[in-house]
Amino acid sequence: MSNIVAIVGRPNVGKSTLFNRLVEERKAIMHDESGVTRDRHYGQSEWNGNFFTVIDTGGYVVGSEDVFEKAIREQVEIAMEEASVILFMVDTHVGVNPLDEEFVKVLRRSRKPIYLVANKVENFEHRTNATEFYNLGIGELYCVSSQTGTGTGDLLDDVVKNFEEIGDEDPNAGLPKIAILGRPNVGKSSFLNILLGEERTIVSDISGTTRDSIDTHYKAYGQEFILTDTAGMRRKARVKENIEFYSVMRSLKALDDCDVCIVMIDATQKLESQDLTLIRLAADRYKGIVLIANKWDLVEKDSKTAHEYTLEMQQSLGSAAWVPIIFTSMLTKQRVFQSIEKAIEVYEARKQKISTSKLNNILLPDIKRTPPPVHRGKNINIKYITQLQGNAPLFAFFTNYPQHVHESYKRFLENKIREHFGFEGVPIRIIFKEK
Ligand code: GDP
Ligand code: GDP
Repeated sequence: MSNIVAIVGRPNVGKSTLFNRLVEERKAIMHDESGVTRDRHYGQSEWNGNFFTVIDTGGYVVGSEDVFEKAIREQVEIAMEEASVILFMVDTHVGVNPLDEEFVKVLRRSRKPIYLVANKVENFEHRTNATEFYNLGIGELYCVSSQTGTGTGDLLDDVVKNFEEIGDEDPNAGLPKIAILGRPNVGKSSFLNILLGEERTIVSDISGTTRDSIDTHYKAYGQEFILTDTAGMRRKARVKENIEFYSVMRSLKALDDCDVCIVMIDATQKLESQDLTLIRLAADRYKGIVLIANKWDLVEKDSKTAHEYTLEMQQSLGSAAWVPIIFTSMLTKQRVFQSIEKAIEVYEARKQKISTSKLNNILLPDIKRTPPPVHRGKNINIKYITQLQGNAPLFAFFTNYPQHVHESYKRFLENKIREHFGFEGVPIRIIFKEK
């Protein structure tokens, strides 16, 4: 279990300023190259050798006047569920506000340690004013300025005392990172919402704001994994212009960060060039790939339809026909679990390491039966095969004429590797070396 610190409080008290300070000090925040500032509500921080995750709960919940109470409850619920420590932030420049009192009511139900943080304390007068927050009855008062950093050290000194362990530098290390990509309207958000169980936690429909989470840690169907989604982006009001451009940028970023990508398409439409481009980009980066053909409920079908669709899609996929295809319906929740299961299988397959003896014992006879074509009167001999270290499967074939092995023979070898060892959904790299 990693250490999690959640910041709650009404709007404008300075939650995101503190979040940024904590996270940025570790330089963990990633600024978007595109110049679009994206709200990252989860970040990693460190204090005196203790590693922890910071959540800015305010970023998830947008409230307007009449729904504040609901928004507050949601915020605190997120914090109470996820956090090991809660920072309840108030604004010294404003003083005790009725909404602060609403928070206190909900917070009282929490059994998690709560720290009352009076923000924007930058002079003696502020500090004196801050004493009024004792009336909230939360206990000790921590006066800080998120803007300058004053007081945050004292706060963190006490916060980290609650941690049972020093935490993980990267709590997500070792978990499969799965990205969900695809054109608009294919069903990505619906997929995520099913995974979330309910649209509860992060969604707030109030102003058309969609959850905007990148790298969400999921535990579903007994599996633990990190999902990066690009679905929420489109609806962000803030980014008005050139949505297409940014969504491509975002897809690329998500792709770079993931181990496996789920490319989702609409089964009622053909695999289009955009989809194939995504798959090619993923394959070029040696990422695992699962293709989901969604809205299967809309397809009129008999017992052969899935097979026919698969063959047709494999034809379009060409040299990437090793990508597994799953037919889903987010509407009827058909094969949602299998999709995740397949992505995790692909993740495992991508890590698979075949021993050198196994490779040689199994592949050399195939090669003997079907040797590389003679090149200008020279016999090309493959003597030895080994799998090299790498993030993705990489095989080295040692031969007398590495430069003369044809592309078509390389494909033959790839097919043989797949035939014997699986690697479904995993791009394979083959290189030839001189021996
Ligand atoms: P949030 O809505 O709670 O996330 O609040 P923000 O972090 O967006 O801050 C709201 C406003 O308060 C912004 O204008 C910040 O610049 C300002 N602010 C935040 N922290 C401080 C602080 O420590 N001192 C002062 N003077 N202003 C602050
Ligand atoms: P996104 O843009 O890829 O995130 O797609 P959404 O999840 O927002 O879905 C777009 C539309 O397709 C919505 O109206 C969904 O209700 C609908 N939809 C999603 N999945 C399915 C499905 O499996 N079957 C049907 N019939 N409709 C779906």
